[in-house]
Amino acid sequence: MSDGSIKYTVIKKRRVLNSLGGQMVLLVSGILLIAMITNAYIQFRDEVSTMEQVLKVRAQSLGQVLSSVSVDALVEYDVNKLNKYIEAVTSQTQVVHAVIVDMQDHSLTTYLDLNDIYIQDTLDSLDNVDSSVIVNELDKIAELVSYKVPVMFEDMMLAQTIVVLDNSEYVAVSAAKFEEKVLSTLFIGLFVGMGIYFVFSRKILTPLHVLSDGANKIANSEFGNKIKITGDSELTDLSENFNQMSENIELLVADRDAALDDLEELNTDLEKRVQERTIELQALNVEIARQAMHDPLTELPNRTLLVERLKQNIYLAKRNNKHVAFLMLDLNNFKEVNDTLGHPQGDRLLLDVASRLPMALRQSDTVGRFGGDEFGIVLPDTDSEKAVDVAKKVLASLEQSFTLDDHELSIGASIGIAMYPEHGEDDASLIRHADVAMYEAKGSKGEHCLYDPEADHYTTARLALMTDLRNAVDNDELQLYFQPQVVLSTKKVLKVEALTRWNHPELGSVSPEKFIALAETSDLIRLISAWVLEKTISQIAKWQAQGADIIVSINLSARDLLNPSLAENIEALCEKYDVSPSKLAIEIAESVIMSNPEQVIDVLKHPVLSQINYAIDDFGTGFSSLRYLKRLPVREVKIDKSFVLDMIGNAEDTSIVRSVIELAHNLGHVVVAEGVETEQTLTQLELLGCNVVQGFYFSPAVDADALLSVIKEIENEFSES
Ligand code: C2E
Ligand code: MG
Ligand code: MG
Repeated sequence: MSDGSIKYTVIKKRRVLNSLGGQMVLLVSGILLIAMITNAYIQFRDEVSTMEQVLKVRAQSLGQVLSSVSVDALVEYDVNKLNKYIEAVTSQTQVVHAVIVDMQDHSLTTYLDLNDIYIQDTLDSLDNVDSSVIVNELDKIAELVSYKVPVMFEDMMLAQTIVVLDNSEYVAVSAAKFEEKVLSTLFIGLFVGMGIYFVFSRKILTPLHVLSDGANKIANSEFGNKIKITGDSELTDLSENFNQMSENIELLVADRDAALDDLEELNTDLEKRVQERTIELQALNVEIARQAMHDPLTELPNRTLLVERLKQNIYLAKRNNKHVAFLMLDLNNFKEVNDTLGHPQGDRLLLDVASRLPMALRQSDTVGRFGGDEFGIVLPDTDSEKAVDVAKKVLASLEQSFTLDDHELSIGASIGIAMYPEHGEDDASLIRHADVAMYEAKGSKGEHCLYDPEADHYTTARLALMTDLRNAVDNDELQLYFQPQVVLSTKKVLKVEALTRWNHPELGSVSPEKFIALAETSDLIRLISAWVLEKTISQIAKWQAQGADIIVSINLSARDLLNPSLAENIEALCEKYDVSPSKLAIEIAESVIMSNPEQVIDVLKHPVLSQINYAIDDFGTGFSSLRYLKRLPVREVKIDKSFVLDMIGNAEDTSIVRSVIELAHNLGHVVVAEGVETEQTLTQLELLGCNVVQGFYFSPAVDADALLSVIKEIENEFSES
């Protein structure tokens, strides 16, 4: 894989012999030289051999002449004559030596040309001066050639003549010629070589250099230099292709550079965005950390941070032998404000309270929202007297009324105070005891109260009950009972009211008046209502499976109606158990409806909830506005049992019941009377035109298993009477 970096080609300076041109010249010149020198050498050899032939012929002719003249002298055996002939022959140019030998090769002549250098040298090296011996010695010298010619007399060979000739002169002439030729060949070779080099360099090397240079420029990203190679050779084609390739590469490189620029731009953009996101995330993290420790509504420290501060202050107080106070503040009647004016106004009130609280405190104190309408205050380095003073200051800061829209509200508060180390050595016990003291303050209406272990009993039990109730749903301690409602005109039971029972493992049966009221002080009521809803709807399904078509009425509290997922929950459960919402009825206490009528009207308009029958429960105990009564989508009005129970012999209650029945009928509502314990009451109610009755006279609330037979019994008894 390429690492992306550009590699450069460097044109090296070469020695001539390594260059293509040099090698070409060497090759051509070498071949030429070898051919020409070989040719010259062959010529030289031919000349030498021709020369030898000439010498031979000459030697033969001299031998023959010598033979023919020597016959007489031989016959006469005239050595002098023979020597003279020999001298005459020897004096000839090139002749080194001549001799006449007998048939046994014994020399018959003695003449020696003592001026001859060869003869001199031979004589110097020999003791014997016999001519034939000298001939043998001369034969060994390369430059000399000897020839034998027989001397004939009438077909008889008398002797032989030997003539030794020197061919060195001819050889030297041929060698000189040969040298000359070699030299001229060298010159020609050099010249031709240079010529070839010149042509080769012009036609091939220069274009090659141009191409190489061009390639090097491309490698160095220098584009736009066109290569020009004139002519019509393959190199011209190559240069054109090269230029085309250069253009293509330039385009590709331009594309790549543009892409790289884009990439870099994108990278920079990305880095910028990453940086921005990082800064945002950091800010978000800081915000999340802050939110984790602060209450979103009031922006005061939340329970976690407050407890943390309390722990820190306890730790410091422990080291420095100091006291710490923890104050638990709870607004009085906040629930009513919330229920009456709605949540948004409740929130505004909490905000106003939160803004006033710090004004009564020191910088080193911590105030935070503990939850709901509860605030906690940590006072470091203090004592109980100072803590009580601070509590008074805080309460004084809340004395001035709060303005919410058009409403002027005086909202008091109760403060419980617990001291470290007197009332607890850790945060948990200080908080618990401040809470107990706060309930004590509420109970005694003293507004603030220092924790008193003596008064702890009731509140601890209350707190414990709350905790137990929270677990009751999971522990299966709740049970749903059903009380029949009888329609007076038909004497039939069409509907039953679902009422929750709590069987506490230690306390036994706890009255709903008590635990429902306790649950209503927090969201715990929603947990219970959810349980009631599922139990009710699943029970309706079971009865339907048994052929019993029973409508079940459940009781809902203010917090349930403010639960935005109420309708969805009911719809989901009806789907789950395949039960029509019309089999469900809902009772809402008059006080709950009238504390926030607009909101209740809004909630009940939901398409799912609008299929349900509503009843105003405990009618007569609240202060219903006729205006709202008219607009409410309710079908029933349930007269509170307190009026029904005391009706007999009580003219006032009787007239209330009568008025309620008349009013309800006028509004087109069905009237239900609860708390019917006696036949007299029943008769009275019938006379007054009441439509439906519910009470111990017929049956108390019973469990699901008993209900069907109870209904049957009621209906049978009723029809008999
Ligand atoms: P409520 O809704 O008005 O229920 C009627 C109460 O009257 C029931 O008391 C019932 O047992 C009682 N009652 C019926 N007939 C007679 C009678 O002839 N004489 C007398 N003296 N009392 C009779 P219970 O079951 O103790 O419930 C008390 C209240 O607790 C209920 O009043 C209701 O407001 C609340 N409650 C009970 N169960 C639930 C529940 O599941 N959810 C909610 N939100 N509230 C519930
Ligand atoms: Mg009821
Ligand atoms: Mg009631």
